[in-house]
Amino acid sequence: MKAIVLREYGAFDTLLWEDVSTPVPDFGEVVIRVRATGLNHCDTDLRRGLFGLAQTFPHVMGVDAAGTIEAVGPGVTEYKPGDRVAPHFVLSCGTCRNCLRGLENICLNAGLLGITTWGSYAQFVKVRQNNLIRLPDGLPFDEAVAAQVPLATAWEALIEVGKLRAGETVLVNAAGSGVGSAGIQIAKLAGARVIATTGQDSKFAAARALGADEVINYSTANVPDAVMALTGGLGADIVLDMVGGDRLKDSIAAAALGGRIVSVGAHGGEHVDIDMIELFRKHISLHGCGRSTRAMVGEVLGLVAAGKLKAVIHKHFPLSQAAAAHELMESRAFFGRMVMDPWQA
Ligand SMILES: [Zn+2]
Repeated sequence: MKAIVLREYGAFDTLLWEDVSTPVPDFGEVVIRVRATGLNHCDTDLRRGLFGLAQTFPHVMGVDAAGTIEAVGPGVTEYKPGDRVAPHFVLSCGTCRNCLRGLENICLNAGLLGITTWGSYAQFVKVRQNNLIRLPDGLPFDEAVAAQVPLATAWEALIEVGKLRAGETVLVNAAGSGVGSAGIQIAKLAGARVIATTGQDSKFAAARALGADEVINYSTANVPDAVMALTGGLGADIVLDMVGGDRLKDSIAAAALGGRIVSVGAHGGEHVDIDMIELFRKHISLHGCGRSTRAMVGEVLGLVAAGKLKAVIHKHFPLSQAAAAHELMESRAFFGRMVMDPWQA
């Protein structure tokens, strides 16, 4: 099969389109014909050697995929060739304490697709049957890929962890990111008033089209002041933050009394000085999450198939041009997901 093979960490030219052996399913495993794979922020970190978990080379990255089952190994009882599925990027064991209580997203023995194993930047990918999600009928593969990580992450952050209720105000940082655009939609669907931030005025219209009631440019405006002005001095009940750094400090300043801040990323700065006095005086709770469960992925894919949530796709690429997709991601000049097709020439 063809795959994007990484033989060293480095620049875009380390993404090599090569022939590698097609995987063969072992006991309890399936091989998926990958019909679409997505580009995630962690991919560019991994390529540059900045992810924090070392790979052995050659390596095939790729965190998410959607496709059809090509072959099943012995002992596979729940799936058959032709079934439409997506692998869950958290490769949970199915037997540990957390897996047994339905928290396979924080499995004690978890691997990560494309990070600890070969992933979906390939025409075929192999996973165990307990790490699969069935795709709703009629949901296109590219939408399944574009939806699963950002929408399920935002769902977990806002609904499961943040306990968002109708009528609350939600501040979504970085509206143009995958999780940001997902967060706007989910907050709106849940009946919230949504304030979104972006660094570029050109992204205002797209943020509003997804449901943002107000948009703030964080490169030209003081975000806490703007949020306070928009909320009559009350602040935001929930802040969805995937940036970290100074944005997280802004999030604390922009939060209402009793506000919840849910952090799902830190590309803008991993170490932050937090004013603890402000945190406890305002009764702010600070949560971290980022790995949704299979049930949450199933929930959001169902809502996409039903037309209640939208998979936001910025651009399609043939997988052979993964380098161009990585370059676009690093330029930050995108709104939504980049989706790649391993079978397109
Ligand atoms: Zn487990």
